[in-house]
Amino acid sequence: MKYIEEFQDPELARRLLDDIHATVTRPWALMEVCGGQTHTIIRHGIDQLLPDQVELIHGPGCPVCVTPLEVIDKALEIASRPDVIFCSFGDMLRVPGSGRDLFQVRSEGGDVRVVYSPLDALRIARQNPAREVVFFGIGFETTAPPNAMTVHQAKKLGIPNFSLLVSHVRVPPAIEAIMTSPSCRVQAFLAAGHVCSVMGMAEYPELAARHRVPIVVTGFEPLDILEGVRRAVRQLERGEHTVDNAYARAVRPEGNPAALAMLEDVFEVTDRAWRGIGVIPDSGWRLSARYRDYDAEHRFSVTDIATQEPAECRSGEVLQGLIKPHECEAFGTTCTPRTPLGATMVSSEGACAAYYLYRRLDLAPAARTAPLEASPVV
Ligand code: SF4
Repeated sequence: MKYIEEFQDPELARRLLDDIHATVTRPWALMEVCGGQTHTIIRHGIDQLLPDQVELIHGPGCPVCVTPLEVIDKALEIASRPDVIFCSFGDMLRVPGSGRDLFQVRSEGGDVRVVYSPLDALRIARQNPAREVVFFGIGFETTAPPNAMTVHQAKKLGIPNFSLLVSHVRVPPAIEAIMTSPSCRVQAFLAAGHVCSVMGMAEYPELAARHRVPIVVTGFEPLDILEGVRRAVRQLERGEHTVDNAYARAVRPEGNPAALAMLEDVFEVTDRAWRGIGVIPDSGWRLSARYRDYDAEHRFSVTDIATQEPAECRSGEVLQGLIKPHECEAFGTTCTPRTPLGATMVSSEGACAAYYLYRRLDLAPAARTAPLEASPVV
């Protein structure tokens, strides 16, 4: 298949579904790691087409959702300064900090700009040498390489007024944390294909063997998801637990060597807090000592900001697959895309946003009479 539409072919989807139905003999719980996969599943109703015995649990793979509240507060503090141009992808502007969001900072006079690439921020830094330009570098193994390359470029070109507010996280330690949690119900993973296209698959066999859990590298179109489920269920029924690449059109076992070299040069592995989940050892990156001058946290002395997460938002449980979004009391009532209490309702990859946008009948009873809104994501 060559074109995206072919990966949504209803006849092929029916055949895969028939195979899954014929294979399953008992209940299984599979976690799709990536929020993009969650949106495909909910948007196309894939979870409703699967056999009742196959439950899809939504994972923590939404970059906006897992960015900790205290990092948002650091961004708000830096963006409020008159000498700063704060650059970010649009999704981050409505993510609530402890008191406000980046939109509010902008309405109060802060120079907050939406960019589509970290290189746009570097260009703005070159055009505005008298001001400090900060790029909000969040996300998984997919966004870390271009951000690393931008810092590398800034150093190479001698651009002193550029820095990165770093909150990068890594998937394999999150899988480890999920599997070692006492409340874990996950029996197989659909691993995020784009992450593996960068990192390769070398980190997964040890995880699969130690936790006796199948890991199927999976893409993002409906047929990708169904094929991932089919392969995972086949392994589960046979009692196998290997790493399987169902996204070979994009993923090579060794990943992307150029991207890996850039990560190795600019970042070093560190413990990271995940919003709603807490600190996971070795689960993130920070700038290495050679690039510490480009670290916005140090440049603007915001390392001491620490924030408590609000109790009413249950996004930590959503991100670990412990509850479904509509099981949160606030879902669709006090928490909507326009009045979000948590990032999972804001992000275009957030599970709460997916349920809100595509699952009207699953709204909590009190919310069914309230009008639904379109996503405000910029
Ligand atoms: S519905 Fe809102 S309050 Fe509830 S978990 Fe999702 S983002 Fe948090």
